[in-house]
Amino acid sequence: MSTSIDVAVVGAGPAGLATAHLLAAAGHTVRVLESADAVGGRTRTLRTDGHLIDTGAEMIPSADAYPATWRLIRAMGLDADPEAIPRVRDALSVWCGGRSRRHAGRPLGLLTGMGLSPRARLDLTRLLRFLERAGPDPEHPEKAAWGESTVADLLRPHHPQLRERLLGPLAAGFFGWPLDRAAAAPFAAHLVASGSTATWRTYRDGMDTLARTLADRLDVRTRHPITGVVPGPDGVRLDSPRGALTARAVVLAVPAPVAARLHPGAPEAERAYLAACGYAPMLRLSLMLDAPLSPRGARRGFAVLVPGDPLLGVVTLDHAKHPGRAPRGRGLVSLIAAPTGVGELLDAPDDEVVRRLVERAEHVLPGVGARVRGSVVHRFRHGLPLPEPRTLAARPAFVARPPAAVDYAGDWISLRPCSEGAVASAFTAAERTAAFLAATREPTLIEAP
Ligand SMILES: Cc1cc2nc3c(=O)[nH]c(=O)nc-3n(C[C@H](O)[C@H](O)[C@H](O)COP(=O)(O)OP(=O)(O)OC[C@H]3O[C@@H](n4cnc5c(N)ncnc54)[C@H](O)[C@@H]3O)c2cc1C
Repeated sequence: MSTSIDVAVVGAGPAGLATAHLLAAAGHTVRVLESADAVGGRTRTLRTDGHLIDTGAEMIPSADAYPATWRLIRAMGLDADPEAIPRVRDALSVWCGGRSRRHAGRPLGLLTGMGLSPRARLDLTRLLRFLERAGPDPEHPEKAAWGESTVADLLRPHHPQLRERLLGPLAAGFFGWPLDRAAAAPFAAHLVASGSTATWRTYRDGMDTLARTLADRLDVRTRHPITGVVPGPDGVRLDSPRGALTARAVVLAVPAPVAARLHPGAPEAERAYLAACGYAPMLRLSLMLDAPLSPRGARRGFAVLVPGDPLLGVVTLDHAKHPGRAPRGRGLVSLIAAPTGVGELLDAPDDEVVRRLVERAEHVLPGVGARVRGSVVHRFRHGLPLPEPRTLAARPAFVARPPAAVDYAGDWISLRPCSEGAVASAFTAAERTAAFLAATREPTLIEAP
């Protein structure tokens, strides 16, 4: 069989689907090849026993913070229904002194306390003002002033409560970052760009909504793993147990370590950056409960940071994020492991993960163990990009590479630990790939039987 395709996109997460959408909208023939049995990648949602279980991503903030994402939301018409992407009430709290302190990460918290002393709050205001003035660009963190510094270096001169109770637990719990390894610039840029937690929203129909909507309009083949890409004179060959195919151009929209494995023959600047782009592993345990529990102090709240716990980083009350996440009268909560907990639990059997994390969560959600009706463990070996100072150093040469037959998309391109980084990278990948296609000859695709 022979088809005519200009671009094969590997990976149906937000980066791959957005890239495919932009290239298809520009008139190119595009096929997306995805190894999993459904689209969404780390934004995937499972539908189990009346629950909508977000496996990875939880929320998106406003259009100011996620401009590329909201461009696609508007292009897909998802914003036409005002209920489709509702606000998350009381989005972030901090566990402190035996109860949950509301209003973390928003101006109101500076008044109500969010578990910080008045001096720590004053220092937080100073730090945020300093970061805002420095104006780090989330798409170009390597241009910020803190090239060699880590998050630990950035926080060291400040009040210890910022590191111990708020910003440290935020970086560790939500991004899986060890503070002494993660580079300061991407953290600072993400903090400033993401704005207030009062703007957090979620998709009513699951965090995979944008991915599913894009995929419905594209040629997407699931259960189609790619094992290698080899550029040649007649295009790029993509190897797969499902059969090889050749396309004029390929976009690898997979985490950097996977891209490095698929394209070992990449030019030196690309290989150097791919090798420097590590990922923090993440582990989330979703618990289906027979009642919608809530921690003391945050009856309606959604996410609770748990500072200082070696195993448990964040508790999220998914039923409070949106009532449609669990059947009426039931509950859905997630326990996100802290970095040290991920190290201990990533390869442990499911029943051990459940036992150890539930045990740790009892003090935040008393009685949770007795309420569990079902559980799902989500393991991400490539959870979120873990930018280190050496990663920033390798980025300029990667950014300066000329358009080529094999290009890349993903959250690791700009080292932003969120889906906005993935979607924003798609605009660049689509532009670069279109430029490559324009500079080369007419479409050819040969598909093996
Ligand atoms: C626990 C967790 C919580 C998060 N919370 C948030 C949040 O609240 N908000 C937010 O904005 N972001 C969040 N993120 C980050 C967000 O999910 C990612 O940044 C985003 O999904 C990255 O998109 P991507 O397309 O680059 O990669 P992915 O989503 O990982 O997509 C890559 C796709 O490639 C496929 N693939 C891999 N290898 C192959 C192969 N060989 N052949 C074919 N296909 C392949 C994968 O199956 C996957 O579908 C979270 C992530 C995690 C892990």
